[in-house]
Amino acid sequence: MKLEKVYSYIDANKQEFVNDLVRLVRQPSVSARGEGIQECAKIVEEMMKNAGLSTLIIPEAQGNPVVYGEVKSKSSQKTLLFYDHYDVQPPEPLEEWMCDPYSGEIRDGKIYGRGVSDNKGNIVSRLKAVQAFQETTGDVPVNVKFVVEGEEEVGSPHLAPVIQKHKDLFSADAAIWEFGGTDRKGRPIIYLGLKGVLSVELRAKGASRDVHSANAPLIPNPAWRLVWALNCLKNEKDEIIIHGFHDDVEPPSADEMKYIEKIPFEEEEEKKDLGLTEFLQNVSGLEAVKALLYHPTCTINGFLTGYTDTGSKTVLPNKAMAKLDFRLVPRQKPEDILKKLREHLKNLGFDDIEIISHGSTEPVKTPINDSFVQTVIKTAERVYAKPAVVYPTSAGSGPMHLFRNWLGYPVISVGCAHAESRGHAPNENITLEGFIKGTKFIAAILQDFSAS
Ligand SMILES: [Zn+2]
Repeated sequence: MKLEKVYSYIDANKQEFVNDLVRLVRQPSVSARGEGIQECAKIVEEMMKNAGLSTLIIPEAQGNPVVYGEVKSKSSQKTLLFYDHYDVQPPEPLEEWMCDPYSGEIRDGKIYGRGVSDNKGNIVSRLKAVQAFQETTGDVPVNVKFVVEGEEEVGSPHLAPVIQKHKDLFSADAAIWEFGGTDRKGRPIIYLGLKGVLSVELRAKGASRDVHSANAPLIPNPAWRLVWALNCLKNEKDEIIIHGFHDDVEPPSADEMKYIEKIPFEEEEEKKDLGLTEFLQNVSGLEAVKALLYHPTCTINGFLTGYTDTGSKTVLPNKAMAKLDFRLVPRQKPEDILKKLREHLKNLGFDDIEIISHGSTEPVKTPINDSFVQTVIKTAERVYAKPAVVYPTSAGSGPMHLFRNWLGYPVISVGCAHAESRGHAPNENITLEGFIKGTKFIAAILQDFSAS
């Protein structure tokens, strides 16, 4: 009954919601370049106030401010926290956009603009769900908190100290994460976890300067040295051979498998799109989905050494470097993997290779049988009138572990994007229909969470 009134309010105020989203999209907020950050944080705070939240801007000496908002329920002790980010990726390449990336242009039922799917659409839809309850019932079904940070797209380097300092503000019983949407068949997607990441740089050094390659019989070549070291990390069967690397890796549980089997995977389209005839090790179907979600990886991101310009240069370089990332799965710890990498190279005689860590995030997962997860699955299936697609974990990464592992509550990712939303790419968009439906979904989650 309550929810029907809330839904009617959402339908009646659609245009205002869209206008607010367009306003937020028109404000650039590129964290990689520090563009429009303060201005965007202010708009988010203003929108929180309009939705009836009390707000606080948490300044961060070295980073971008975190915008915090909350509203207390008169009828429930439970608290639901929303994690979002107001920063966006750079819009380039501009020539591939069919409109100005900061226009918020509406075409054929879609709103276009940088950040509209990742993550401004979700910010607005969530605030509007709260506003709809406040305006129609004078209350919210549960206590609501919003944490909207401004550095997600650059790896959230300052969120951990902010949470450490304001632990009480971030306490909750459950959280909704920033991303999600519907698949090609309009089924709602629910993500329950993220991989961790460990980024490292390996450096090899040779002589004190580059020398003529005629000296190669006598002078060590750091480029070869680095290639040999990298060769000890992974074999040609694509297996990571760092000693102890897989110690904590777990296969999906029987419960998880029931959901994984139902995940749609359009592998032929995917291969065609990338100009490939097969995936690594020729995996396909269920095996490919399992690999994507449950296999940790070791990826060379780039090499830099010697001469790579036009023509030839008979030079023997004096240094070489490579950047790598490890995507980690639940129970693997970045600091443990870094230690194992160091020991592995040292034991194989590569203690001359310098290893520099460029930061990490932990893998994270909320169990599928958690009651909040089961509530949201039921809510999703009712709102969308379709079976939900549940990812027990996902291939992406983010600071979710700070909430799930540190603060200790379940975290679920759902949102209002769709299969062609093109996050991080030109012509990023969401549909007007998906935006409004996503707002109702959040309203229904608030209601069902209070009753659960
Ligand atoms: Zn993003």
